[in-house]
Amino acid sequence: MQIENIAPAQETVREWLKKPRHQLLIGGQWVDPAVGRTLSTINPATGEVLAQIAAADAGDVDRAVAAARKAFDDGQWRSMTPAIRARLLWRIADLIDAHIDELSELETLDQGKALYVGRWAEIPMAAEQFRFFAGLCTKVTGDTIPSSINYQPAGKRVAAYTTKEPVGVVAAITPWNSPLIMHAMKLAPALAAGCTVVLKPAEETSLTALRLAELLVEAGVPAGVVNVVTGLGSVVGAALAAHPQVDKVAFTGSTQTGRAILDGAKGNLKKVTLELGGKSPVVIMPDADLDAAIAGAANAIFFNGGQVCVAGSRLYVHRSIFDKVVEGVAEIARGIRLGHGLSPDTQMGPLVSKRQADRVKAYIDAAVADGATLVTGGGQKGPAGTFIEPTLITNADPKSAIVCEEVFGPVVVAAPFDDVAEVVAAANDTEFGLAASVWTQDLSAAHRLSSDIRAGTVWVNCHSFWDVALPIGGFKQSGWGRESGAGAIENYLEIKTVCMVL
Ligand code: ADP
Repeated sequence: MQIENIAPAQETVREWLKKPRHQLLIGGQWVDPAVGRTLSTINPATGEVLAQIAAADAGDVDRAVAAARKAFDDGQWRSMTPAIRARLLWRIADLIDAHIDELSELETLDQGKALYVGRWAEIPMAAEQFRFFAGLCTKVTGDTIPSSINYQPAGKRVAAYTTKEPVGVVAAITPWNSPLIMHAMKLAPALAAGCTVVLKPAEETSLTALRLAELLVEAGVPAGVVNVVTGLGSVVGAALAAHPQVDKVAFTGSTQTGRAILDGAKGNLKKVTLELGGKSPVVIMPDADLDAAIAGAANAIFFNGGQVCVAGSRLYVHRSIFDKVVEGVAEIARGIRLGHGLSPDTQMGPLVSKRQADRVKAYIDAAVADGATLVTGGGQKGPAGTFIEPTLITNADPKSAIVCEEVFGPVVVAAPFDDVAEVVAAANDTEFGLAASVWTQDLSAAHRLSSDIRAGTVWVNCHSFWDVALPIGGFKQSGWGRESGAGAIENYLEIKTVCMVL
């Protein structure tokens, strides 16, 4: 498979990539890491080095946390009127929109994704995160609470109320699948609440975090309120998770790394929200609109190369329509055009890295070696070995790794079912509980299945429908807490109860 090296259309991207190396944003200044190490960030389509990013260490994390701490403790940011803070968040959204072509090209070059994914789905949604939480800045309120305390001094009264205050310094640790939207899902509610942030993007895909940081400065975010520290997860991420001056970690990534973060966070019992892995079932009932269900099932797993936490990686189809659905999804899979994400013909880009492509390929090979049927796909291609063909597998052992573990690639495992009880049991037979979709025209099946499937989101006749207003997060080992939705601002707030005798 030949991959032509395509230059970005945006002049600003071409210029930006000429920087000899990228720095850290600490306390409003762009600075080198103290030890001066760098990491190469690779274009996964071609394997070529795109840029050098700073490889920070624990000392740089200390500096960034101190800057965030100072910006929080001096009180100016958190006591800024909510209306002014709202305008600032709205300005960030407008700047993202104004730079959308540039940001989407950068994301594609760094992550590999087909351009339309960033341009039309993820980056507009990142801007919407800032607008949605801008609207909430002015709506953070407490309660006045009637008290029944009966031991106040004679003739006195008890008055009680609550306020909500920002939790403090937040470490936002984000993954490589959809970088910019992940940063926005943490930064927007954290800033709306009045927190300060140290953002640590994934080492594979740090470029849009750095460009976003420039836009935050341009928008007028005060020095130290957002700091960006790039580098390895095992160094920078681990130092942030364990840091005694960090009040909260907001993490999205693998379940395994989520556990490491909890270990780190226990020292000062910092607050933690985790958005972790998934193995989301797609259930197609016999009465479903088959054209929609087949297209929907294919999109649920192949969008963004399956590098989506809610990807529909287990496909359960009623036996009466199983062959038809399998053939339909396989046909779509065979027709997907792989290529450089910047090519307008490309429907699916490479996976983020050779390491990830090797991981996905190993899952496929192990399933086939175990006796599963490879209906289509399975190949690993491209000059850097980063492309994985859209893959459909049947006859897999329900206890095998391909069915139970998060593969995070364009690989779906299909199995037939005969009745509702059987498919509910199969859908729930997982340690994860992030999302699911049900395809049916039958109202009662829709309600019963969405009630019985244990997952943070159940879509009916759609999959991966995201909206900043809809909470997203997991049951079981898919995480702690919810992002997006009005409630997400609470992740960044503490309740204070004030009780007085008057
Ligand atoms: P993957 O294993 O697929 O790279 P991760 O869940 O490890 O996915 O990565 C998500 C984010 O977590 C990245 O920003 C990564 O650098 C960071 N990370 C990795 N290991 C650790 C760790 N031990 N502590 C904190 N953050 C980490």
